[in-house]
Amino acid sequence: MKIKITSLLLSFCSLLIAQNKSNSFKNVISNNPVSNVSSNNVQVPATRTCGTTDYMNERLNSNPQLRESFNKAQEQMQSLINSGEFANRNAAVVVTIPVVVHVVYNNTTQNISDAQINSQIAILNQDFRKQNADINLVPSVFTNLASDCEIQFCIAQRDPQGNATNGITRTSTTHGPFYTENDVKYAVSGGRDAWDASKYLNIWVCALSNSLLGYAQFPGDNPETDGVVVGFNYFGNTGVAQAPYNKGRTATHEIGHYFNLYHIWGDEDACNADDEVSDTPLQKAENGGCPNFPQTSQAGGRCNASDPSSMFMNYMDYVDDACMYMFSNGQKTRVLAALNGPRSSLITSNGCQPLNLVTLCDTVWNIPATATTNNFSIFDIVQGTWGYVSGHNSYLDIAKAEKISNFPANYKVKGLFIGFAKMSAANSSSSFSVKVYGNGVGGAPGSVLGTINTTYSANVPIVAANQYSYFEFANSITVPSTFFGGVEFAYAAGDTLSIYTTANNQVAANLGWEKTSTGVWQPYSEPQPAGWALNLSNYIAAVLCDPSVITSEVEKIDDAIKLFPNPANTSITLNIATTNNYIFKIYDAMGREVETKLMNSNGLINFDISDFNQGLYFVTGISNSGRFTKSFVVQK
Ligand SMILES: [Zn+2]
Repeated sequence: MKIKITSLLLSFCSLLIAQNKSNSFKNVISNNPVSNVSSNNVQVPATRTCGTTDYMNERLNSNPQLRESFNKAQEQMQSLINSGEFANRNAAVVVTIPVVVHVVYNNTTQNISDAQINSQIAILNQDFRKQNADINLVPSVFTNLASDCEIQFCIAQRDPQGNATNGITRTSTTHGPFYTENDVKYAVSGGRDAWDASKYLNIWVCALSNSLLGYAQFPGDNPETDGVVVGFNYFGNTGVAQAPYNKGRTATHEIGHYFNLYHIWGDEDACNADDEVSDTPLQKAENGGCPNFPQTSQAGGRCNASDPSSMFMNYMDYVDDACMYMFSNGQKTRVLAALNGPRSSLITSNGCQPLNLVTLCDTVWNIPATATTNNFSIFDIVQGTWGYVSGHNSYLDIAKAEKISNFPANYKVKGLFIGFAKMSAANSSSSFSVKVYGNGVGGAPGSVLGTINTTYSANVPIVAANQYSYFEFANSITVPSTFFGGVEFAYAAGDTLSIYTTANNQVAANLGWEKTSTGVWQPYSEPQPAGWALNLSNYIAAVLCDPSVITSEVEKIDDAIKLFPNPANTSITLNIATTNNYIFKIYDAMGREVETKLMNSNGLINFDISDFNQGLYFVTGISNSGRFTKSFVVQK
């Protein structure tokens, strides 16, 4: 298909060349002395030259089907213009257009810098927002007509495939200077294929022959060739941009065409045709260079004596970059009709939105949502004091651990959540270790794969009901498909530490394990008299993350999640429709983490914020299905 169209366009090209010889492109070739020749053999014309009108006419004359879709787009836009909806609109709603710049270069000079590209985007944002510094040069008779088009541009942040991008493609070519034949728009002909034209404004930057500054495609034409083309030496206002076209106005002019603006003089010299904009005075012919105000009887002057002058300082005339500085209100109406008509898909494009790149994590724990939290502090299955099932005091356990499995094979352990029921230290140096074990002999914990040494005193303050201490390893740990997370004790007389467990029989056997003072691992479920004969789990969970950098966006789940009340005073509630294990983190406005929680979302999740200061906060939830972030305000 692509090749077919290209060859079709090549035949246009021959047509165009034939037409050029018959003076159709009078301004491009015969009437346009060359002011200088750059090092790239690209001729810089003395007067502005734009290929858009001839490009459009040639295509329409050669392709009846195109004429149909073009006319349809024109009818749609005319109907929007006639509706009056966009006349004198000042809605303060600014639409941002995602832009991709395709640099197609034959030598290093043509491979323009990011800085030159960025300078052009900045100029577009000034010109289409009436924020250009030279707006004050508009003659007072036209001041009230100068318009903020309420359109701005961003360099694309994501490509059509959903990958992160800087919005610039660079293609080396052996092709000589391009022309309006569209070779630059196809890889097969030495250019670069367009990005989805319904989502991006494609701008090709390349060397252009025949003194051409650029050309654009009107709405309603082929999406494969949609966009604008600008010479590398007329793009932006820095780098290799050449005077008098070194203020970025060629792109402003061409994007005006892209949004359905015609040349201000109506592309003829006899005052017969108009640009179909009522507030731009009917004008005889194009202006060049930098005319003086007013232009009345001059070649580029007004047609009607009632007008003060032609509006030669309009972006859609042919004057030098330094001498064009306004769109009119009527032009804005046409631009908005194009934007809300055939180009309306640009409004909802996500091309400007940076990717929400996340590292995928999964939180694995064995506790069912229906389990009862149990504090086996002093457990007495039989008479007497057995000490702590899920920790130690004088019973002198050495370690407790929880068996963990069922997670994606490539994931690594990032950290462990542990719910402590009791914790008190004999002295300030009392310590314990958080450990990850492999799968050892007989299904018991095996070799130690990762260790975090800590003290009781560092953890005592955080031990409270339904709070979990999170221990993150300096480096993520590679683990086998079954591993153990646990705690080891360095006992000092008077140390007390216990971990919450489920009640008996709420989980399967052999999940919770302990290491006795003799150094032997045994499951809690080991029968009496040697063991406890209990089927229970320690409240120990593992956070496992995909070690690879995730380059494509995870499906956003924000919309399904509600946060209330907002503003809040003592608590917030998240309504999460899906059941999932989440790591919740709350950040203050400075990005400081103020709370971390592991919870199984099962409808409503409550957070106590009674001790939060006033201000803006963000709560982020991370699960294996993505992440969300919600903001809320604390008011006291
Ligand atoms: Zn033009």
